[in-house]
Amino acid sequence: MPELPEVETIVRDLRPHLRGRRLEAVLSLNPVVLRFPSAESFRAAAEGAVFGVLGRRGKFIHAPLSSGEHLVVHLGMTGTLTLDPGAAPVRPHTHLRLRLDSGQELRYRDPRRFGRVLLGSARQLTKAGLLPSLGPDPLARTFAGWPEDGRVRSSRRAVKALLLDQQVVAGCGNIYADEALYLGRLRPTRAAASLSASQWARLAAALTVVMREAIRRRGTSFSDYRDGFGARGEAYESLMVYGRAGLPCVRCGRPLVAGRVAGRTTVYCRWCQR
Ligand SMILES: [Zn+2]
Repeated sequence: MPELPEVETIVRDLRPHLRGRRLEAVLSLNPVVLRFPSAESFRAAAEGAVFGVLGRRGKFIHAPLSSGEHLVVHLGMTGTLTLDPGAAPVRPHTHLRLRLDSGQELRYRDPRRFGRVLLGSARQLTKAGLLPSLGPDPLARTFAGWPEDGRVRSSRRAVKALLLDQQVVAGCGNIYADEALYLGRLRPTRAAASLSASQWARLAAALTVVMREAIRRRGTSFSDYRDGFGARGEAYESLMVYGRAGLPCVRCGRPLVAGRVAGRTTVYCRWCQR
Protein backbone atom coordinates (compact mmCIF):
# COMPACT_ATOMS: atom_id res chain seq x y z
CA MET A 1 0.00 0.00 0.00
CA PRO A 2 1.43 3.38 -0.95
CA GLU A 3 2.39 5.47 2.10
CA LEU A 4 3.78 8.99 2.43
CA PRO A 5 7.09 8.38 0.57
CA GLU A 6 5.40 6.70 -2.39
CA VAL A 7 2.70 9.38 -2.69
CA GLU A 8 5.29 12.15 -2.29
CA THR A 9 7.43 10.60 -5.05
CA ILE A 10 4.47 10.56 -7.43
CA VAL A 11 3.58 14.16 -6.58
CA ARG A 12 7.16 15.35 -7.18
CA ASP A 13 7.33 13.40 -10.45
CA LEU A 14 4.08 14.77 -11.83
CA ARG A 15 4.18 18.34 -10.48
CA PRO A 16 6.38 19.97 -13.18
CA HIS A 17 4.58 18.14 -15.98
CA LEU A 18 1.05 19.05 -14.88
CA ARG A 19 1.51 22.65 -13.81
CA GLY A 20 -0.12 25.00 -16.33
CA ARG A 21 -1.40 22.12 -18.47
CA ARG A 22 -4.98 22.28 -19.73
CA LEU A 23 -7.11 19.21 -19.18
CA GLU A 24 -8.63 18.79 -22.63
CA ALA A 25 -10.83 15.75 -22.23
CA VAL A 26 -11.94 13.05 -19.85
CA LEU A 27 -11.36 10.07 -22.15
CA SER A 28 -12.68 7.46 -19.75
CA LEU A 29 -13.96 7.36 -16.21
CA ASN A 30 -15.09 4.30 -14.27
CA PRO A 31 -17.73 5.49 -11.77
CA VAL A 32 -16.52 2.74 -9.38
CA VAL A 33 -13.52 4.86 -8.31
CA LEU A 34 -15.31 8.21 -8.43
CA ARG A 35 -16.64 9.12 -4.98
CA PHE A 36 -17.61 12.71 -5.74
CA PRO A 37 -19.36 14.26 -7.67
CA SER A 38 -21.35 12.40 -10.39
CA ALA A 39 -19.56 11.38 -13.60
CA GLU A 40 -21.44 14.10 -15.53
CA SER A 41 -20.46 16.80 -13.05
CA PHE A 42 -16.88 15.51 -13.05
CA ARG A 43 -16.60 15.89 -16.82
CA ALA A 44 -18.22 19.32 -16.80
CA ALA A 45 -15.87 20.59 -14.07
CA ALA A 46 -12.68 18.95 -15.32
CA GLU A 47 -12.70 19.60 -19.06
CA GLY A 48 -11.02 22.90 -19.89
CA ALA A 49 -9.54 23.37 -16.41
CA VAL A 50 -5.83 24.17 -15.99
CA PHE A 51 -3.64 22.38 -13.42
CA GLY A 52 -2.01 24.35 -10.60
CA VAL A 53 0.79 23.10 -8.34
CA LEU A 54 0.31 19.49 -7.26
CA GLY A 55 0.49 18.81 -3.52
CA ARG A 56 0.07 16.06 -0.94
CA ARG A 57 -1.89 15.82 2.30
CA GLY A 58 -1.13 12.59 4.14
CA LYS A 59 -1.65 9.88 1.52
CA PHE A 60 -3.93 12.09 -0.62
CA ILE A 61 -2.75 13.68 -3.87
CA HIS A 62 -4.26 17.12 -4.38
CA ALA A 63 -4.25 18.70 -7.84
CA PRO A 64 -5.66 22.24 -7.66
CA LEU A 65 -7.50 23.32 -10.81
CA SER A 66 -8.02 26.82 -12.24
CA SER A 67 -11.71 26.51 -11.33
CA GLY A 68 -10.75 26.58 -7.64
CA GLU A 69 -11.63 22.93 -7.24
CA HIS A 70 -9.25 20.10 -6.37
CA LEU A 71 -8.82 16.83 -8.20
CA VAL A 72 -8.02 14.49 -5.30
CA VAL A 73 -6.67 10.96 -5.66
CA HIS A 74 -6.14 8.37 -2.93
CA LEU A 75 -4.29 5.30 -4.22
CA GLY A 76 -5.87 2.81 -1.81
CA MET A 77 -4.01 -0.53 -1.88
CA THR A 78 -2.96 -0.90 -5.50
CA GLY A 79 -3.55 2.45 -7.21
CA THR A 80 -1.06 4.14 -9.54
CA LEU A 81 -1.23 7.62 -11.04
CA THR A 82 1.03 8.00 -14.06
CA LEU A 83 1.71 10.36 -16.90
CA ASP A 84 1.81 8.37 -20.13
CA PRO A 85 2.30 9.26 -23.79
CA GLY A 86 -1.16 9.56 -25.36
CA ALA A 87 -0.28 6.72 -27.77
CA ALA A 88 0.78 4.30 -25.00
CA PRO A 89 -1.39 1.18 -24.80
CA VAL A 90 -4.04 1.39 -22.09
CA ARG A 91 -3.43 -1.29 -19.47
CA PRO A 92 -6.25 -3.28 -17.84
CA HIS A 93 -7.78 -1.75 -14.67
CA THR A 94 -7.25 1.81 -15.92
CA HIS A 95 -10.23 3.65 -14.43
CA LEU A 96 -9.52 7.26 -15.36
CA ARG A 97 -7.83 8.79 -18.41
CA LEU A 98 -7.37 12.54 -18.65
CA ARG A 99 -5.96 13.96 -21.91
CA LEU A 100 -3.75 17.02 -21.49
CA ASP A 101 -2.91 19.74 -24.00
CA SER A 102 0.65 18.30 -24.08
CA GLY A 103 -0.74 15.20 -25.81
CA GLN A 104 0.05 13.14 -22.70
CA GLU A 105 -2.48 11.33 -20.56
CA LEU A 106 -2.81 11.26 -16.79
CA ARG A 107 -3.98 7.74 -16.00
CA TYR A 108 -5.30 6.25 -12.79
CA ARG A 109 -5.05 2.50 -12.60
CA ASP A 110 -6.16 0.34 -9.67
CA PRO A 111 -6.64 -3.45 -9.93
CA ARG A 112 -8.21 -3.85 -6.48
CA ARG A 113 -10.19 -0.60 -6.67
CA PHE A 114 -9.78 0.44 -3.03
CA GLY A 115 -8.58 3.85 -4.19
CA ARG A 116 -10.74 6.87 -4.86
CA VAL A 117 -11.02 9.95 -7.03
CA LEU A 118 -12.75 13.16 -5.92
CA LEU A 119 -13.34 16.53 -7.53
CA GLY A 120 -14.63 19.55 -5.66
CA SER A 121 -13.68 22.47 -3.47
CA ALA A 122 -11.86 21.59 -0.25
CA ARG A 123 -14.88 22.84 1.67
CA GLN A 124 -17.31 20.72 -0.34
CA LEU A 125 -15.22 17.57 0.05
CA THR A 126 -14.65 18.11 3.76
CA LYS A 127 -18.34 18.77 4.34
CA ALA A 128 -19.22 15.56 2.50
CA GLY A 129 -16.91 13.66 4.88
CA LEU A 130 -14.58 12.67 2.04
CA LEU A 131 -11.45 14.41 3.33
CA PRO A 132 -10.64 13.16 6.82
CA SER A 133 -8.85 15.42 9.27
CA LEU A 134 -5.15 14.57 9.33
CA GLY A 135 -2.45 14.79 11.97
CA PRO A 136 0.98 16.42 11.54
CA ASP A 137 3.10 15.46 8.53
CA PRO A 138 6.55 13.89 9.22
CA LEU A 139 8.08 16.08 6.49
CA ALA A 140 6.87 19.30 8.16
CA ARG A 141 9.57 21.49 9.77
CA THR A 142 7.63 21.53 13.05
CA PHE A 143 7.36 17.75 13.29
CA ALA A 144 10.21 17.40 15.83
CA GLY A 145 7.71 18.44 18.54
CA TRP A 146 5.29 15.66 17.64
CA PRO A 147 2.96 14.71 19.24
CA GLU A 148 1.93 18.02 20.75
CA ASP A 149 -1.46 16.62 21.70
CA GLY A 150 -1.34 15.54 25.37
CA ARG A 151 -4.10 13.01 24.73
CA VAL A 152 -1.80 11.21 22.30
CA ARG A 153 1.14 11.23 24.75
CA SER A 154 -1.01 9.88 27.56
CA SER A 155 -2.88 7.34 25.42
CA ARG A 156 -2.95 3.71 26.55
CA ARG A 157 -2.95 2.50 22.93
CA ALA A 158 0.04 0.63 21.53
CA VAL A 159 2.46 3.06 19.95
CA LYS A 160 2.26 1.15 16.66
CA ALA A 161 -1.53 1.67 16.58
CA LEU A 162 -0.99 5.40 17.02
CA LEU A 163 1.42 5.49 14.09
CA LEU A 164 -1.23 3.92 11.85
CA ASP A 165 -3.86 6.48 12.90
CA GLN A 166 -3.94 9.22 10.23
CA GLN A 167 -5.32 11.70 12.75
CA VAL A 168 -2.21 11.22 14.92
CA VAL A 169 0.40 11.25 12.14
CA ALA A 170 -0.43 11.78 8.47
CA GLY A 171 0.88 9.44 5.79
CA CYS A 172 2.31 6.62 7.92
CA GLY A 173 1.28 3.02 7.20
CA ASN A 174 2.46 -0.47 8.13
CA ILE A 175 5.85 -0.38 6.41
CA TYR A 176 7.16 2.91 7.79
CA ALA A 177 5.56 2.42 11.22
CA ASP A 178 7.70 -0.72 11.67
CA GLU A 179 10.77 0.99 10.24
CA ALA A 180 10.42 4.05 12.47
CA LEU A 181 9.86 1.96 15.61
CA TYR A 182 12.97 -0.07 14.79
CA LEU A 183 15.09 3.03 14.16
CA GLY A 184 13.67 4.60 17.33
CA ARG A 185 14.45 1.35 19.24
CA LEU A 186 10.90 1.10 20.62
CA ARG A 187 8.80 -2.05 21.03
CA PRO A 188 5.65 -1.67 18.85
CA THR A 189 3.43 -2.95 21.67
CA ARG A 190 4.56 -0.28 24.14
CA ALA A 191 1.67 1.79 25.53
CA ALA A 192 2.05 5.36 24.28
CA ALA A 193 1.75 6.65 27.86
CA SER A 194 4.90 4.73 28.84
CA LEU A 195 7.17 6.69 26.47
CA SER A 196 9.47 9.33 27.97
CA ALA A 197 9.89 12.76 26.38
CA SER A 198 13.22 11.72 24.88
CA GLN A 199 11.66 8.54 23.46
CA TRP A 200 8.92 10.58 21.78
CA ALA A 201 11.56 12.87 20.33
CA ARG A 202 13.52 9.84 19.09
CA LEU A 203 10.39 8.40 17.45
CA ALA A 204 9.49 11.71 15.77
CA ALA A 205 13.03 11.98 14.40
CA ALA A 206 12.92 8.33 13.26
CA LEU A 207 9.65 8.88 11.37
CA THR A 208 11.13 11.81 9.48
CA VAL A 209 14.34 9.92 8.71
CA VAL A 210 12.64 6.77 7.36
CA MET A 211 10.24 8.83 5.23
CA ARG A 212 13.03 11.00 3.78
CA GLU A 213 15.25 8.01 3.11
CA ALA A 214 12.41 6.17 1.31
CA ILE A 215 11.70 9.25 -0.82
CA ARG A 216 15.39 9.40 -1.70
CA ARG A 217 15.03 5.82 -2.96
CA ARG A 218 11.80 6.69 -4.78
CA GLY A 219 9.49 4.57 -2.65
CA THR A 220 8.95 0.90 -1.83
CA SER A 221 7.80 -1.36 -4.69
CA PHE A 222 7.30 -4.81 -3.26
CA SER A 223 4.02 -5.15 -5.12
CA ASP A 224 1.97 -2.62 -7.07
CA TYR A 225 3.47 0.76 -6.32
CA ARG A 226 4.95 2.65 -9.29
CA ASP A 227 6.19 6.23 -9.54
CA GLY A 228 4.64 8.97 -11.67
CA PHE A 229 6.19 7.50 -14.81
CA GLY A 230 5.37 3.84 -14.10
CA ALA A 231 8.82 2.80 -12.78
CA ARG A 232 9.55 0.85 -9.59
CA GLY A 233 11.01 2.43 -6.45
CA GLU A 234 14.13 1.05 -4.77
CA ALA A 235 13.42 1.47 -1.05
CA TYR A 236 12.41 -2.18 -0.49
CA GLU A 237 16.04 -3.29 -0.64
CA SER A 238 16.95 -0.91 2.19
CA LEU A 239 14.12 -1.69 4.64
CA MET A 240 15.47 -2.81 8.02
CA VAL A 241 12.53 -4.82 9.43
CA TYR A 242 9.47 -4.79 7.15
CA GLY A 243 9.26 -8.12 5.31
CA ARG A 244 12.36 -9.45 7.17
CA ALA A 245 10.81 -11.64 9.89
CA GLY A 246 13.22 -14.47 10.77
CA LEU A 247 16.17 -12.71 9.15
CA PRO A 248 18.98 -11.28 11.29
CA CYS A 249 18.57 -7.84 12.84
CA VAL A 250 21.02 -5.51 11.09
CA ARG A 251 22.06 -4.09 14.48
CA CYS A 252 22.47 -7.16 16.75
CA GLY A 253 22.28 -10.13 14.36
CA ARG A 254 19.52 -11.93 16.29
CA PRO A 255 16.48 -13.07 14.24
CA LEU A 256 13.67 -10.53 13.87
CA VAL A 257 10.26 -11.67 15.08
CA ALA A 258 6.79 -11.11 13.65
CA GLY A 259 3.73 -10.47 15.77
CA ARG A 260 0.36 -8.88 15.34
CA VAL A 261 -0.24 -5.35 16.64
CA ALA A 262 -3.28 -3.22 15.84
CA GLY A 263 -4.45 -6.00 13.53
CA ARG A 264 -1.35 -5.72 11.33
CA THR A 265 1.72 -7.91 10.90
CA THR A 266 4.50 -6.26 12.85
CA VAL A 267 8.20 -7.11 12.62
CA TYR A 268 10.66 -6.07 15.30
CA CYS A 269 13.79 -7.05 17.22
CA ARG A 270 13.14 -8.33 20.73
CA TRP A 271 16.63 -7.38 21.77
CA CYS A 272 17.00 -3.89 20.27
CA GLN A 273 13.45 -2.63 20.74
CA ARG A 274 12.39 -2.26 24.36
ZN1 LIG B 1 18.46 -6.36 17.16
